[in-house]
Amino acid sequence: MIYFDHNATSPICSTAREAWLDACERFPANPSSPHRLGARAETALHEAREEAARFLTCSPHDIVWTAGATEANNAVLYHAARLHPQAEVWVSAVEHPSLLKSAERWFGERVRLLPVHNNGVIDLMFLQKQLTLSRPGLLAIMAANNETGVLQPWREIQQLCQMHGVAFACDAAQWVGKLPSAGLGKSDFVMGCAHKFSGPTGVGFIKVPPHFRPYLVGGEQEDGRRAGTENVAAILAMVAAWTDRERRIQANEIALRETWRDEFIHSALQSPGVAVLGIETGRLWNTIAILMPSNPDCRRRWVVQFDKLGFAVSTGSACASGKEKPSHVISAMGLDSSNDRLIRFSSGWETTQAEWIALGKALTQLASHHGNSRS
Ligand code: PLP
Repeated sequence: MIYFDHNATSPICSTAREAWLDACERFPANPSSPHRLGARAETALHEAREEAARFLTCSPHDIVWTAGATEANNAVLYHAARLHPQAEVWVSAVEHPSLLKSAERWFGERVRLLPVHNNGVIDLMFLQKQLTLSRPGLLAIMAANNETGVLQPWREIQQLCQMHGVAFACDAAQWVGKLPSAGLGKSDFVMGCAHKFSGPTGVGFIKVPPHFRPYLVGGEQEDGRRAGTENVAAILAMVAAWTDRERRIQANEIALRETWRDEFIHSALQSPGVAVLGIETGRLWNTIAILMPSNPDCRRRWVVQFDKLGFAVSTGSACASGKEKPSHVISAMGLDSSNDRLIRFSSGWETTQAEWIALGKALTQLASHHGNSRS
């Protein structure tokens, strides 16, 4: 099976696996324990914190380890709601459900959805205008979209928020490990997780401001900001994967991968009825959201057809796939989300050019056999 679903979970890389095994042996103790083995684990966690902070451009003390980005998003929205019980939260309409639902949960009627353009990018002019009229307790906009790979202008948003004295939270789960993390830590909050860049599943982080209110209580771990014993081996494996990915980014290993992606897009667009979402704007080098030709036989879902040919692809976000729920991201981009034409291909660092070429051939074959380009 050729794997093109890295935005759902990117299988663990050898660097992370080795770091995990090594950490299991070297740091078997609880980092909160008072003995030397505990202190050793605590020191390893501290070094990992320093490394993560260096990548994000923030202080090591700003880093709180979590069990992933869903927890991180929930924790940030909880903190903001406690701090600003009367204020609104503004979130982009294309955020991950873990952010949208936790905003709804803690802010209720005080959630305001910010529109995106048809290409999926936040309407900055609209946001600028709104910020001159009122101020939310928190503004949350992701760095890169999980369904389309469309990049948001988070640096400009950071500046806008600074100018207007508004706290900015950036869900960087799909950005980190694919593009440089530097500068993200200048946001008040940054949320991320390891399994989108080939670290272990179930581990992540939040960059937080001072006086962060804990979402999970019942332990003094993480300086009282997140209760629960830290998963030392998973955290060290996450940072090992992150280090490997940052090194590849610095070595400009992205350029070649963009070429493979673009060659695939070029080949895909030869099939009538195929369209690429957000094609005219900046996107992650690994993600392509494609509208396949409309399928006259609804029972033949595209994702199943790809599966039969040996390709693991997705219908959109992992959360939406399989449930046949229309994508809120696609609706926010002004497209009809009720059909099943949307397919997401997401590669990893280890994906080869040969795999991209094979995927292109499979797409051409399927589009010509099952597609109906006229409708
Ligand atoms: N935020 C974004 C943008 C994501 O893509 C995901 C996962 O798909 C999450 C948050 C949730 O991350 P996790 O699986 O670590 O809970």
